[in-house]
Amino acid sequence: MRKAGITDELSLSIDYARVCKIINAYLKENTFKLIESAAENLALVLFANFKELTEVSITVKKPWAPIGLPMNHVAVSIHRKWHRAYIALGSNMGDKLAYLENAVEAIKNDVSCRIIRISDIILTEPYGPVEQDEFMNGCIMIDTLYTPEELLSFLQRLEKAANRVREVHWGPRTLDLDILLYDDLVTDNEELVIPHPEMHKREFVLEPLKQIAPNVVHPVLKQRIRDLI
Ligand code: ADP
Ligand code: MG
Repeated sequence: MRKAGITDELSLSIDYARVCKIINAYLKENTFKLIESAAENLALVLFANFKELTEVSITVKKPWAPIGLPMNHVAVSIHRKWHRAYIALGSNMGDKLAYLENAVEAIKNDVSCRIIRISDIILTEPYGPVEQDEFMNGCIMIDTLYTPEELLSFLQRLEKAANRVREVHWGPRTLDLDILLYDDLVTDNEELVIPHPEMHKREFVLEPLKQIAPNVVHPVLKQRIRDLI
């Protein structure tokens, strides 16, 4: 809101009348059992309608909730925002370029993701113990409403849809989608490690990543991608 506040410029603000009309129409057309669900869906609708919206706080109040105690209302409040993430794409089986392009297309078409930048696709020699075909690799910068865990399971669904079978560890694959960075998050659990633990050692990750995000800082190593390379 800062720019709008300084300049008093109408076009730099959000049209609150439109916000109200969209909420009003949406809640008349849709019914939810949970106010939690009404809040989540409203957030999606607002992000879809206002491209300039970066984050939103929503409170849904339910008057006369059937609680059996004197209470004016119950309410849920959520805060949702776009998170910046970087994803590495790789393929070394079948129609590699088509697998990568289809993945990018599917991410683009998801309401909870926006593609901001796409690197060139590079050809790289495989390394490691398994004899296999050369790879096509690339990186994308996205904004996403998913949590890291939701993003991982979304990407794994795309891998599955590309007929990926997890057979040989480090072996050939139709499609590999790895989360490299997610905001400045540093996390480590059974399923998900962010930043990706191998990214700083892999030229086929750093090279395309440098193309789209040379000045982004690795939150553990505290170095820019251009310097990591
Ligand atoms: P790799 O990408 O290392 O060649 P896989 O794609 O088969 O191997 O991934 C193996 C597991 O790595 C996945 O089941 C996933 O749970 C885990 N994993 C941990 N951190 C990440 C991450 N940042 N991005 C993607 N997968 C990850
Ligand atoms: Mg992977």
